[in-house]
Amino acid sequence: MVALLLTPLIAIPFALAGSVAATVPTKVDAAPVASGEWGLPLAGGYSKGRGFGYNPVQGCGYCSTNHQGYDMAQGCGSTIYAAGPGRVITAGSWQGYGNAVRIDHGDGLVTLYGHMQWGSLRVSVGEEVAAGAPLGAEGNTGKSFGCHLHFEVQKSGTPVDPEPFMASQGLQLK
Ligand SMILES: [Zn+2]
Repeated sequence: MVALLLTPLIAIPFALAGSVAATVPTKVDAAPVASGEWGLPLAGGYSKGRGFGYNPVQGCGYCSTNHQGYDMAQGCGSTIYAAGPGRVITAGSWQGYGNAVRIDHGDGLVTLYGHMQWGSLRVSVGEEVAAGAPLGAEGNTGKSFGCHLHFEVQKSGTPVDPEPFMASQGLQLK
């Protein structure tokens, strides 16, 4: 008796979905700009924040003046993507970076994604990722002054300017 009552209710929505699907364009998630095995850590447009080097933040006493990364902001909650292929070596609270992910790309090369929202991480330590793998959501955790991504590139433990590094991969940070 129950099955007889439910059957029409289930059948109608499927029939409607089938007829509507032909007229609705398929939603395509925007992917980050890529070049070879590397890509930008955000998909679509973003605002440039502080670049690499001496960059004091007005009104932020706890922000470092010697900025070791490249700040980019798309909006709180925007998806942050892996910039290159490698293995996740940090996924969680990391020094002043708040909720952060670090990826080891081999040959002493590491990228770091700082200040993501608590609870937003989509990777864990030991995971192998490719460029474009979603890591978490843009946030304001750690020593941060408004939602943004702190994108850092390290060679043998020393931060290097992400702009020329990404340029060497064929990717333009603005
Ligand atoms: Zn930063």
